Amino acid sequence: MRSLNFDSTKPLLYLVSTPIGNMQEVSPRTLEVLSSVDLIACEDTRVTGKLLQILGISKNLVSIREHNEVSSSQEIVKKILAGTKVAYMSDAGYPCISDPGAKLVKICLENEINVTTISGPNAALNALCASGLCGDHFYFHGFLSAKESERLEELRNLHSRKETLIFYEAPHRISKTLQSLFDIFGNRKACIARELTKKHEEFIRMSLEEMLKLDPETLKGEMVIVVEGSNGEEQPIIGDNDIINMVKTFVESGMSTKDAIKKVSEMTQVNKNHIYKLVHLN
Ligand code: SAM
Repeated sequence: MRSLNFDSTKPLLYLVSTPIGNMQEVSPRTLEVLSSVDLIACEDTRVTGKLLQILGISKNLVSIREHNEVSSSQEIVKKILAGTKVAYMSDAGYPCISDPGAKLVKICLENEINVTTISGPNAALNALCASGLCGDHFYFHGFLSAKESERLEELRNLHSRKETLIFYEAPHRISKTLQSLFDIFGNRKACIARELTKKHEEFIRMSLEEMLKLDPETLKGEMVIVVEGSNGEEQPIIGDNDIINMVKTFVESGMSTKDAIKKVSEMTQVNKNHIYKLVHLN
């Protein structure tokens, strides 16, 4: 499907990026679009309401959150098809990037509504560019799982990627996440970009091992973690399938499953509970 967004009789949804801290980062184009639409769909009407108040714009707001994204998006699509001009903005940065919005975009496109973006801040790109680890290629992961076993598996799958890796994290999970990054990636160079665009913006550029020694009390606020990619010289990491096969081989040679799990855990340094789950779910 080809769509000429601004030379078309088709309706158009505006996806508007909003500040990630510094309110001065609202462009004239953002102001123009927000002033021109009839309705602003947003993640949280309180957050967007405050921003609009600062900008001196008064509009009807309707919320689209993760749990009601499909049903609310369908309602919005009906309104757009009936001629209402709509913009969508999440709480901060770009919609769809670790934020709701992707389902709204999909439903709009299915209904032949064009979609455009109004450019603005994004935490991942701000962090990457100033991290000192920006090469030709990067991989954006967003949030890792809060569950340790799932988080470690996600990281094992990224272990051999050569691109610079970008993660989002919340302050209450930063210590555990740094530990998991070190456990899987070893002592790679990294950068924590904290409180981007705000008064206390800080870049912490050091190795993952050094980061583990930082006082967690000093790692508050919003943050992005940028980690250098694999240099191709590290030991290959053992994936879940390899682990299952190792346990199977020991069991076939006469070992009990319990002893096989213990042995494989000792050999690979992978958590026994994780291996237990893998073996019993497969
Ligand atoms: N849609 C946003 C974007 O385009 O960047 C991301 C939203 S996501 C729900 C929130 C996460 O983005 C935070 O937990 C943090 O990892 C990162 N983030 C957002 N604002 C930030 C800031 N000012 N400084 C550092 N990280 C930020």
